[in-house]
Amino acid sequence: SGIVCVLHDVTEQERIDEERKQFVSNVSHELRTPLTSMRSYIEALADGAWEDPELAPRFLEVTQNETDRMIRMIQDLLHLSRIDSGKSVLELEIVDITEMLDHVLNRFEMLIHSAEYEGKNYQIKKVLENESIFVEVDPDRIIQVLDNIMNNAIKYSPDGGTITGRMVKREQTVIISITDEGMGIPKADLGKIFSRFYRVDRARSRAMGGSGLGLAISKEVVEQHGGNIWAESTEGKGTTFYLSLPYVPYEEEEWE
Ligand code: ADP
Repeated sequence: SGIVCVLHDVTEQERIDEERKQFVSNVSHELRTPLTSMRSYIEALADGAWEDPELAPRFLEVTQNETDRMIRMIQDLLHLSRIDSGKSVLELEIVDITEMLDHVLNRFEMLIHSAEYEGKNYQIKKVLENESIFVEVDPDRIIQVLDNIMNNAIKYSPDGGTITGRMVKREQTVIISITDEGMGIPKADLGKIFSRFYRVDRARSRAMGGSGLGLAISKEVVEQHGGNIWAESTEGKGTTFYLSLPYVPYEEEEWE
């Protein structure tokens, strides 16, 4: 009835208002934290630490890292805002998704052998379809999503382990999955990790340079493509992120 409708509208409006307030509060908090920390380092430098040949470079490095993190966060926020206002237009191309995933995994294989990851025993495994599968996507955006999931797989696997990239073809979708052997995600948090700023362990994630926006952006991007993203996890065992994308079985002649 009409009354139910009105009640429903008010509740919906209230929910949106509440979400907006929460968002502004989150942004303010997330920006205040690095700024406060930077200010105390700058104060220490001004108070004389700048003359200390050991402290000065260390304190400057901290302020540099915090600045970088704030820039990254603001770039993420701008990207989300462009998506929200419908200004983030996909540049669709027909690409071979098998090849794309293969490239991303190869790139991380190289990274893992680089100095940054030295001493950590990660392994990358590939389980890919033995054929080209053509999907219509914005390749830069989908690569960004895959990079984000791969980075998390490494970040949240402190003991290393195998990271497996898989792809299977269903009738009208391709499903990419990335499995790690990391710390896992508690059941109660699984539904929330795609929300803006949500982090299972705020302090730990921040220490690792995270802002809690990566998965929120990934979800928006995948949904822009008409796909889905979700995760399954066992605490202490590991996590699998799934990404499904609609797939039109193109005949090669059709698009060549
Ligand atoms: P962040 O910048 O904090 O990594 P994300 O949006 O990428 O933000 O991820 C949100 C949260 O989800 C992370 O803070 C972390 O708690 C959790 N998370 C994401 N990926 C994994 C993973 N592979 N294993 C365990 N936890 C994860």
